[in-house]
Amino acid sequence: MHYVSTRGSAPVLTFEQAMLTGLARDGGLYVPETVPTLTSEEIAALAGLPYEEIAFRVMRPFIGETFTDDEFKVLIAKAYEGFGHDARAPLKQLAPNHFLLELFHGPTLAFKDFAMQLIGQLFQAALGRSGDRVTIVGATSGDTGSAAIEAFRGLKNVDVFILYPHGRVSEVQRRQMTTPADSNVHALAVDGDFDTCQGLLKDMFNDFEFRDRVKLAGVNSINWARVLAQVVYYFSAAVSLGAPHRQIDFTVPTGNFGDIFAGYIAKKMGLPIGQLVIATNQNDILHRCLTSGSYQTEGVTPSISPSMDIQVSSNFERALFDAYGRDGAAVAQLMDELKTAGKFDVSQGALEALRETFASGRVSEEGTSESIRHTLAHSAELLCPHSAVGTAVAEQHLGANPMVTLATAHPAKFPAAVEAATGIHPALPPRMADLFDRPERVTRMTGDLKAIEALILERTGA
Ligand SMILES: *Cc1c(COP(=O)(O)O)cnc(C)c1O
Repeated sequence: MHYVSTRGSAPVLTFEQAMLTGLARDGGLYVPETVPTLTSEEIAALAGLPYEEIAFRVMRPFIGETFTDDEFKVLIAKAYEGFGHDARAPLKQLAPNHFLLELFHGPTLAFKDFAMQLIGQLFQAALGRSGDRVTIVGATSGDTGSAAIEAFRGLKNVDVFILYPHGRVSEVQRRQMTTPADSNVHALAVDGDFDTCQGLLKDMFNDFEFRDRVKLAGVNSINWARVLAQVVYYFSAAVSLGAPHRQIDFTVPTGNFGDIFAGYIAKKMGLPIGQLVIATNQNDILHRCLTSGSYQTEGVTPSISPSMDIQVSSNFERALFDAYGRDGAAVAQLMDELKTAGKFDVSQGALEALRETFASGRVSEEGTSESIRHTLAHSAELLCPHSAVGTAVAEQHLGANPMVTLATAHPAKFPAAVEAATGIHPALPPRMADLFDRPERVTRMTGDLKAIEALILERTGA
């Protein structure tokens, strides 16, 4: 199994190399050279299996020789043992043909744990074998950072630096990043928004001298291994509802396009997914792009669903790569235009290809609050604001197939928005009840690349 860059001019890598590398050296993202498929019988046989077994069968064809079957099974088991629910990704019914896939039972209460807990295990196993040490730098709108810190804290061969936008994450998110006491964990509060943080991260990857010196590794959803881990729950949910014998629709609260791209991969693997619906908040660049064909950044407006407050949606590049017939040069040109002009136009052919797979919808701030209230009143479920964006858009797309909306975070991670909408203060699970008593440790930074690189060099001694 080989991995190629979406911009066509970086080295072809193995799974292990692609996982440890993150961003390709030509600025692109790694994707599998070909997507393996499961037969109808193989998909049918997943029904009723434990989540870990489904994870093994779905991911195994992608990892090549990186781990033996037995090693891989052990790593998967360790990744999910800390989850607070035996089903790992339980499915709940909201309405006659509408279901909620709860992805928030991991250690930091957001779906990011599914990928990050696994990546932590895979990194540790691969680095333990080679004896290498890496520096992980991540940019976060809140949930990736806490999930990464939880997955990598205390590991021997890894330092982890997380850049988050100062003042723009929820208090629970911030405390999950700033309270772990492990000395290999470094939370950096950056002046700016998520796109500032993500831009700094990309610039570090493009500074080859720095990149090689600290052995930079990325765990943002640009990392293929993260996307892969998220493919699994599309299968587990769909077979519970009757796939492969019927089609299932999914609606995904979307920011950086990683989660929904995993659904696209599941579909390419043979899972009969009908509609794949992108749900955005008022930061709706993806919805506008699919509607008009023009991908144009407008600056981020902070919302009550902050993990989706993104304008430059990195993983969309992976979808564009396929929509342009895997023409890396064409993708590289679009990304150049985006960098210089802040926009690009999708060709008619590529737009048609995207619309064949993806539908989309957008929800305002008031619409999000209304959706939280409505779901509580009609289905007795208290949703986080991101999941509420999802259910609101899903309701506009209900058809003959069962619809599954991904619930991406626990309501207690965003208590202010939930309380404002319903008057109910969602409680943290007991295992985190002391979060507000633990001391915080954070370094405030401006958005100056060189200053951040200097800090990383100093702290790692590289
Ligand atoms: C990260 C995140 C999203 C967006 O997921 P993408 O993969 O970036 O599209 C949505 N909701 C929550 C709670 C998140 O943490």
